Amino acid sequence: MSDDALVKDFSCMDDYDPNSLPADVALETIKSSLSVIKGTEKVALRTALNAVLDEDIFSRINVPSGINSAMDGYAISSKDIPGDGIRELKVIGTSWAGKPFKQGNGTGECTRIMTGGILPEGTDTVVIQESVERTGDTIRVDSEIRSGDNVRQAGEDISVGDKVLNRGIRLTAADLGLLASLGIGEVKTKRKLRVAFFSTGDELRSIGEALDEGSVYDSNRYTLYGMLNRLGCDILDMGVIRDDREAVKEAFLSASDIADVVISSGGVSVGEADFVKETLDELGKVEFWKVAMKPGRPLAFGRVKNACFFGLPGNPVSVMVTFYQFVQPALRTLMGETQTEVITMKVPCVSKLKKRPGRLEYQRGIMERNDEGLLVVRKTSAQGSGILSSMSRANCFIILPIESSTVEPGMNVDVQPFFGLV
Ligand code: AMP
Ligand code: MG
Repeated sequence: MSDDALVKDFSCMDDYDPNSLPADVALETIKSSLSVIKGTEKVALRTALNAVLDEDIFSRINVPSGINSAMDGYAISSKDIPGDGIRELKVIGTSWAGKPFKQGNGTGECTRIMTGGILPEGTDTVVIQESVERTGDTIRVDSEIRSGDNVRQAGEDISVGDKVLNRGIRLTAADLGLLASLGIGEVKTKRKLRVAFFSTGDELRSIGEALDEGSVYDSNRYTLYGMLNRLGCDILDMGVIRDDREAVKEAFLSASDIADVVISSGGVSVGEADFVKETLDELGKVEFWKVAMKPGRPLAFGRVKNACFFGLPGNPVSVMVTFYQFVQPALRTLMGETQTEVITMKVPCVSKLKKRPGRLEYQRGIMERNDEGLLVVRKTSAQGSGILSSMSRANCFIILPIESSTVEPGMNVDVQPFFGLV
């Protein structure tokens, strides 16, 4: 059969499942059931990096604090700018950044000034040194100068009382600098979210153990560690839990005792040993969903005692996709972050992407510039939900909407860059 015939065949099939839940409904259900955790801590500026700000910040000072020069040159009075021709002014001192010239300037006088130097009284304009002719203590200025040139006004960036940062933002390097520029050395941030996680499966081995037939190394605990660490969570790694009723029950109980959020991976697909579901039904209120997405169809969400619970699928790529699409926005909501959406953009796709309608797909992509310097995206080779190397090679998700079918090369697709995913 030709490739085209295959595609035609595909196009009359679909992935619609009447019992499945659209991904956006799942996310809304999750987010609407959450409330922000209690607990604020006052921390030093450096410690606050990447934490969620728990207060509005107002400035107590003007930035810059005084009227100063934006260039190296001469501070003059605009009254001394000649209507036409040339005028000579006498240089009576120097104003350095941090070492102002305290004497006021009279008519016909000026001050040598460096960038950041405070303008002496009687001056309001800076002439850059390149447009001035200086002989001894005299400079010659012309009529081209405009009043107020090269002067930074006090409070031009921030004025006393301005609101500079909003409660609920995640503090960036720029925010730390901004706070420092206001002389603020401590801020209130949300306390760290405590997240416990474990893997389930008799086939899982930890690093250092021998791989016997049919066993695999547990990678989910490492991807989860990485993703949670970058979100600034307090992480409690509970290891691998065997497919055993008592062991699973014990794990859920102790995890929910110590954490705000419990995450498990594996054991939520159809055909899994029933006791995972049984145990959760006994301990808490958990729903098992078939989400209309690929990868990541099975997902469990609810509460176990006082902790919020996510049961992620076992396949390594599914874990990362479901974490980024559901768990990360939920954790950010719990942490009091107000902006939890991640940027997406439209980019032409240079690969053919096979797809059937019925499920929202997160394919792994590589975004790069083509020979003309334009941004394009191509898929990483194999797209199976167990192929973690595709995730490692990728730098973005290619998001294909639920109703869409195969994408031909040249069509635009929605792309979610990994750098936006915190
Ligand atoms: P499950 O959802 O438990 O049926 O697992 C689905 C697939 O993911 C199986 O092939 C598992 O071996 C694999 N898997 C489950 N948990 C992990 C893990 N922690 N690390 C690597 N692979 C896993
Ligand atoms: Mg399993």
